[in-house]
Amino acid sequence: MEKLESLIETYYDFPKKGIAFKDILGIIRDPEVFRELIFKMSSNHVIKNSEAIISIEARGFIFGSAISFLACKPMIVARKPAKLPGDLIQENYNLEYGKSSLSIQKEALKRFKSFAIVDDLLATGGTINCVERLINKSGKKVSGSISVVELISLKGRNKLDFPVESIIKI
Ligand code: AMP
Repeated sequence: MEKLESLIETYYDFPKKGIAFKDILGIIRDPEVFRELIFKMSSNHVIKNSEAIISIEARGFIFGSAISFLACKPMIVARKPAKLPGDLIQENYNLEYGKSSLSIQKEALKRFKSFAIVDDLLATGGTINCVERLINKSGKKVSGSISVVELISLKGRNKLDFPVESIIKI
């Protein structure tokens, strides 16, 4: 896990001036580190205590699908506007660098009661909070969230009302 942090590259003023963008793609170019990370995330109590995983578009899909495979848990996707077909539930949110909305297929939630949210990075917490509101609106429960990186100075975890896990705190 020591090598993990060195694989995360910082790009300043991307995608907007003032943002220090943490690029996690170096992790998936190192299969040994990626594998170790997925083993660690999959065995976390947040994953164990959930019936299904919700991965957030787009980089959350990379980690969520690998965790889903290893932990043998169903994966559901939370996607950006105009990406999903069918009957959807939708919520808006503010991002560190903009505004957007996330949607989930209603059908996908039906069979499960508790969900673990997976994303690449926790910044202000707006994105994960949006998924929490989607889940609560459906009468279901979030068992917790897990991210690869947490930007601690932004205090995103204060917005979240469940166990919040992250592998690297920067
Ligand atoms: P937030 O809603 O502020 O917690 O932002 C988290 C989401 O936005 C994640 O899906 C990240 O991929 C992305 N994100 C926000 N800030 C950054 C950043 N500084 N570097 C990389 N990704 C970011």
